[in-house]
Amino acid sequence: ASYARIKETEEAIGAFLTLNEEKARSTATGMDEQLAKGGERGLLFGLPAGVKDNIVTEGLRTTCASRFLENYDPIYDATASRKLKEAGAITIGKLNLDEFAMGGSNENSSFHPTRNPWNRDHVPGGSSGGSAASVAAGQVYFSLGSDTGGSIRQPAAYCGIVGLKPTYGLVSRFGLVAFASSLDSIGPLTKNVEDAAYVLQAIAGYDKNDSTSANVDVPDYTSALSGDVKGLRIGVPKEYLGEGIDPRVKQAVMDALRVYESMGATWEEVSLPHTEYAIAAYYLLASSEASSNLARFDGVRYGVRADNPDNLIDLYRKSRSQGFGPEVKRRIMLGTYSLSSGYYDAYYLKAQKVRTLIKNDFDEVFKQYDVIVGPTAPTPAFRIGEQVDNPLTMYLNDICTIPVSLAGIPAISVPCGMADGLPIGLQIIGPAFQESTVLRAAHAYE
Ligand code: GLN
Repeated sequence: ASYARIKETEEAIGAFLTLNEEKARSTATGMDEQLAKGGERGLLFGLPAGVKDNIVTEGLRTTCASRFLENYDPIYDATASRKLKEAGAITIGKLNLDEFAMGGSNENSSFHPTRNPWNRDHVPGGSSGGSAASVAAGQVYFSLGSDTGGSIRQPAAYCGIVGLKPTYGLVSRFGLVAFASSLDSIGPLTKNVEDAAYVLQAIAGYDKNDSTSANVDVPDYTSALSGDVKGLRIGVPKEYLGEGIDPRVKQAVMDALRVYESMGATWEEVSLPHTEYAIAAYYLLASSEASSNLARFDGVRYGVRADNPDNLIDLYRKSRSQGFGPEVKRRIMLGTYSLSSGYYDAYYLKAQKVRTLIKNDFDEVFKQYDVIVGPTAPTPAFRIGEQVDNPLTMYLNDICTIPVSLAGIPAISVPCGMADGLPIGLQIIGPAFQESTVLRAAHAYE
């Protein structure tokens, strides 16, 4: 059914980079045979899933939407890919993204853009745009995405589905091709909150292969979905509803808050005073980490190697010039600059200090409130091509998601309305490792 739906819709949407049809069918047959022999059904038994193409899958091409990796077939599974298999999910294929997850529209994919299923002239968001569009178009039941500064939540909002960024360290990063290691998180994109709880259940947990994996107990997330938010204390940051926020988005958030009130929750305006510095700090930190992480792509060990180099340095130069797209190059240059001696204190170190202030803002609010609620993105999905020539405008779309990433805390986006036929997302943010609270609040609302 999944492949039939893909055949109907894929030409219009362009969510996939690689399909896994033959292998998926034989996996499904194998599972039927196991079941007939009395085998057990895993948590996600038989569910067709899509995986963002920066999460490695054994024997299944993983390109990060980059020319550099257009011939890369991983020899191992990411921990998240392995856990999907163990839970019985079937990987249907690999989903499009902005190259190396750098972007917010899918227009930075080196292969083709993905289109928003609600209106194909608009972007699906990014960088997990293929992951969001595929679920929204009914091609897969759920997908995995990655979120460094909003890349699960923002495309979920633009495509009218649910997207959960877990606490940093809750889901192993082993096998997620690194963009900014101190921020990268894997999480589910689903049709509803209950599905998000199930998928998170399957992929969360300590992993010795990831040095930043959190050694915490994984609670039963579905049992948190009680429908009860009586007495829940909601903080609404004034910085997330001020200048630059589309009035229709603001209205949708206010309407959602009234729904919460009617269910017995209370809300008050709060302040996250350092929000205005978040984008600057993030683009310095994320680019710095990216410049270091992407140094491994040298044309020797992975992916494409340039032809006819004069010498070793020329091999690096040619391979990197040919392999990386313009946004990736921009970030490598920005990050290399900010890490250079003489500039380190002024940029990288300063940005790290700002990151701490932003985290402290959240800690302060969570002393008095259970969750923070606001928009996921300032506007609904914009038109393809509209912002592509202006990286700064593009970066400003991340204003509501980036502070959460810098603080390392969990947040979910759930649909909360429409504007001119395009969905709007409500973001619900919780303290570290309080996924159950975030899921409960989202589930009661949806
Ligand atoms: N849009 C942000 C960026 O371009 C977020 C990307 C992400 O979360 N992977 O960096």
